[in-house]
Amino acid sequence: MSPPFKQGIRRSLGGKFLTAALSVFLGCFLVFTLVSGWLEYNSTKRDLHQSGRRLLRAQAPVLAELAWQMNYGLLETQTRSMLLHPAVDAVRVTGAKGDFRIQAGPRESFGDGGNLLLEAPLKIGGREEIGRLRVVLRPPTLGQVMAGGLGEDLLLTLLLAGAIAASAAVIQRRKIAKPLNRLLESIRKADKQHSREPVDWRSDDELGVVVEAYNRLLASLDEQERALAQSERLFRVLAESLPAGIIILQDGKLRYANPAARNILGAEGELPKDVLSMVHPDMRGEIRERHRLRLRGEDVPSRYEMRVRTLDGRDIWVENVAVVIGYRNKPATLDSFFDITGRKAMEWELIRTRDEARRANQAKSEFLASMSHEIRTPMNTMLGMVDLLRDSRLNGEQEEYVSLLENAGETLLSLLNDILDLSRVESGRLTIVAEPFDPRVLVDEICSLLRPQAQEKGLYLHCGLDHSLPAALLGDYHHIRQVLTNLAHNAIKFTRQGGVTLDVSRRENGDIPRIRFTVSDTGIGIPRKQQTRIFDIFTQADSSITREFGGTGLGLAICRRLVEAMGGEIQLESAPGGGSRFSFVLPLPRAELGMEELEEAPADNAQMRGDGLRLLLVEDNQNNRLLFERFLRNTPHRVDWAGDGRKALEMFRETEYDMVFMDLEMPVMDGYEATRRLRAEEERLGREPVPVVALTAHSLEEHREESLAAGCTEHLPKPYSKASLLKAIHRHAA
Ligand code: ADP
Repeated sequence: MSPPFKQGIRRSLGGKFLTAALSVFLGCFLVFTLVSGWLEYNSTKRDLHQSGRRLLRAQAPVLAELAWQMNYGLLETQTRSMLLHPAVDAVRVTGAKGDFRIQAGPRESFGDGGNLLLEAPLKIGGREEIGRLRVVLRPPTLGQVMAGGLGEDLLLTLLLAGAIAASAAVIQRRKIAKPLNRLLESIRKADKQHSREPVDWRSDDELGVVVEAYNRLLASLDEQERALAQSERLFRVLAESLPAGIIILQDGKLRYANPAARNILGAEGELPKDVLSMVHPDMRGEIRERHRLRLRGEDVPSRYEMRVRTLDGRDIWVENVAVVIGYRNKPATLDSFFDITGRKAMEWELIRTRDEARRANQAKSEFLASMSHEIRTPMNTMLGMVDLLRDSRLNGEQEEYVSLLENAGETLLSLLNDILDLSRVESGRLTIVAEPFDPRVLVDEICSLLRPQAQEKGLYLHCGLDHSLPAALLGDYHHIRQVLTNLAHNAIKFTRQGGVTLDVSRRENGDIPRIRFTVSDTGIGIPRKQQTRIFDIFTQADSSITREFGGTGLGLAICRRLVEAMGGEIQLESAPGGGSRFSFVLPLPRAELGMEELEEAPADNAQMRGDGLRLLLVEDNQNNRLLFERFLRNTPHRVDWAGDGRKALEMFRETEYDMVFMDLEMPVMDGYEATRRLRAEEERLGREPVPVVALTAHSLEEHREESLAAGCTEHLPKPYSKASLLKAIHRHAA
């Protein structure tokens, strides 16, 4: 309750006005008194002078006569009689020849500048002057002035000033105190009885403006109250009809709950005041703390999910949004919430299904990996044998059979590789590495690999390289090469005349160079509506294409996924009959490496340096052993053979080998274990670490990593060609 208004008044306006009226009265009185006193004084002074002059004019002839008669006794008496005049202070009569001099009154009066001196000549009948009469007049006294009419003036002044002050007091009462009192009365009513009555007062002065402003304020307060009441009604209707639960909490206590809140929380009647006690014990403390911090204005999450025990004993999940509001002049929180128990159950079900799908995908990948292992092992032998058959003496028909065999084997192998690649990408187990490579070597390698195919079809194969490219880039050489080989291979495959151009260029000169790889051809082109689809799995532009060109429809799907995994996007421009252009841009940082580290090994054993090496092959499969030995038949190298890991360790202890080729899947002791022990043995014997090349049909990334972790130097996937075996030997021969 606001304090009574009278207590706020320290000096009443009535008192102030009384003081003001009194001051006006005194001021007027003083001014009037001074002015009329001054005027009265001057007029009295003027009167005295006039009567002095009259005296002078009357006395001068009498005194002249007496002086002429030389009746000095009477002259003196007459002179002295002039002092009887009230304005005369002193009189002096002097003869022109100094023959007489009579002085009446004080002599000093003649020297006082404040007094008025009057003079007149003493003459007889218009003749010469016989002397002079001098009279000193004194200034008027207060008594004279008062007698001259100042008394009445003062009385008049007193009455006038009193009248002015009284009328000022009356005016202030009428003009000021009255509206102010009405204003005060209206405010008092609004304060005590909550009734707003406008003040009935009109005037063109400041008070009129104040009263009008006050009346307007009352009207706008009424308006605001009406709007507030309306919005409160709206809030109530909204809150009562919304399906979301709404509660208002203040200091942890429930202040309001809508029907939906009661319904969601399973209440028949009212909800408990301590509604937060319904939150599950695991979260209750945290939710209470959040409520407290939020009210203190701290930044806490406003949208969250929580578990609640309803009043009818169910466990539910709600999604809650909390905001701070003002409620009855204090901060409070408004919480709106939905029952999301059904959605939660669905989410859990989805997660369960996703995990199951992941497990199934995992199982698929594992199945693919082991199937590939099973297929690759005999394939290794078959393709190796074909390789050897080519080197033996064959007649024309046999050579044709061998070629067919080789083609079929290679197609099977590439299908197998495609399926494996795809399963690796799909299961998210693709690892993108960043290793230094020379883009020139990349282009050379692809072009020398594909040139024979192009030449066979009578096509040109142009390989272009931007000269501003850095000498070494950092990227996944293997995967870039895979994508480019695939695109170039397709380009040759789908071109009947003209040729194919492979181009590597630099896109922009930023900190990280962006490299654009393009493969364009003058081939059959791809219809527009097929252009987006051909990147999907098992999709080909036209079924007649499969008949003419073969293929599985996996290559571009793998290319797109690989390019995206490396941070790029594959693009296609093509028109039927007008050739195709596949391109992608990759961010490839410049590698800070010396070029010698990037040098590739020569593929041909004729270029090999140094003498023959002593090699140990650890391999359980007789066919594979035969193949390995045949591959090295015309080389200076000597191969010893061990059928399992244990045997290999025995031989390793006795002989210092230059290099070990280790199969990983073997009976008795597998390659991983054998390599680990071999490394321990080296340490024990104080030998230099020997290069151990893992040979395995497993080509998944994790197998490579596992073999390197066991201590292998390199991983050579099966089936390997003669050239790749010789390259591996060359790499480690130094
Ligand atoms: P495939 O093993 O069938 O070649 P890809 O995924 O590599 O599988 O290619 C899918 C399809 O895209 C091909 O069958 C072909 O219809 C079309 N295609 C790919 N590259 C070219 C190209 N350079 N010119 C014309 N068509 C192409």
